[in-house]
Amino acid sequence: MHNTTDFDVIIIGGGLAGLTAALHLSQNNIKVLVIEKYKFPHHKVCGEYVSNEVLPYLNNLGIFPLTHGAKSITQFQITTNAGKSIKTQLPMGGFGMSRFTLDMLLFEKASKTSQFLIDTVIDINFSSEIFRVETSGNKKYTSSYILGAFGKRSNLDIKLNRNFIKQKSPWLGVKAHYEYDMPNNKVALHNFNGGYCGLSKTETNAVNACYLTTFNSFKKHGDIDTFQKKELSKNPHLNHFFNNSKMLFEKPLTISQVSFQNKKLVENHIVMIGDSAGLIHPLCGNGMAMAIHSAKLFSEIFIKFKDLKTRDFIEKTYTQQWEKTFSNRLKTGSLIQRVLLKPTLANTVFKAAKLAPSILQHIIKRTHGNVTI
Ligand SMILES: Cc1cc2nc3c(=O)[nH]c(=O)nc-3n(C[C@H](O)[C@H](O)[C@H](O)COP(=O)(O)OP(=O)(O)OC[C@H]3O[C@@H](n4cnc5c(N)ncnc54)[C@H](O)[C@@H]3O)c2cc1C
Repeated sequence: MHNTTDFDVIIIGGGLAGLTAALHLSQNNIKVLVIEKYKFPHHKVCGEYVSNEVLPYLNNLGIFPLTHGAKSITQFQITTNAGKSIKTQLPMGGFGMSRFTLDMLLFEKASKTSQFLIDTVIDINFSSEIFRVETSGNKKYTSSYILGAFGKRSNLDIKLNRNFIKQKSPWLGVKAHYEYDMPNNKVALHNFNGGYCGLSKTETNAVNACYLTTFNSFKKHGDIDTFQKKELSKNPHLNHFFNNSKMLFEKPLTISQVSFQNKKLVENHIVMIGDSAGLIHPLCGNGMAMAIHSAKLFSEIFIKFKDLKTRDFIEKTYTQQWEKTFSNRLKTGSLIQRVLLKPTLANTVFKAAKLAPSILQHIIKRTHGNVTI
């Protein structure tokens, strides 16, 4: 590694992937700067169900969501637009915690061993083995490595001319917290025409309702309230939810242009982690675990090989391990999403799963990894 740079690693983006990498690397004496554009803490559009795949690893980093009130989730319910329902035990289970709190826990811990800057990165240059980073606040830093942890869609994807950003994506995400009575240990996935909505409890006892839909389904109704009343509420479970809950946010949070296209894992020597590397369909409830797990993969490779091997070796090893760990889940997630959004096909699969609930368990396992420590 270069000894004359300001930092060993600059991490761009302080979401779950960036914060986890900051924690892991800095706990191993790597000099890290995290640049995040928004102040902590803040809410994010997310289903807030985290797979237990990463719980032991988070515990090893000193993060204990369950002692901060996260709900342990063991049961899964899926319903069709017409209200037919299947319930099953989750093979691995997970926990429910708001991004507001989970990101804050990681930030508080990581800021003890890494430096943080609240600013937006606007330019990255790489020459003579050194990265030069510039922010909108006119700050300039150098580093030997850069981790791209800037999420689903960023100004930097445009700057880097990444392929996926050139194509429009029809997906829209909406999320808010509600006061509503539901079991602590359940995550529910309710289908509606043109999308699906997840419900699960968080550490505050609020129920997080988060849905993904196509812009085409949404635009017929014009606004969120009408869409929820006229479209989501055709599913009797969602009808019950919207009629018997009280929203705790002033208004729902939204994001548009959510892209599920393949992304390059290394661009101009910037190594991508989390959603910057690839986003799994949210119905799998696995994006956060993948973000955290990808940060772990890079951190382990980097710590082991930074002084022994070339940049090229580190980039190739990360790419191979990422693909081995996540490619199959992404493919299965994409297939399930296509099936769910075709009502006739979804009904056939639903009938089969009702007769043999092990089908559902099998599908869930195919979209999740093994527990990582
Ligand atoms: C509708 C929906 C529901 C979901 N539900 C679930 C679920 O229930 N369970 C699950 O596990 N996953 C879910 N996911 C996926 C999950 O939200 C993501 O996989 C996860 O947030 C990825 O974390 P990240 O750190 O990669 O990105 P993020 O958390 O998005 O962090 C990226 C950060 O980069 C910052 N940034 C961007 N550009 C710059 C810049 N130029 N300079 C500085 N900072 C920058 C942003 O401000 C942001 O804080 C869902 C996703 C969607 C869309």
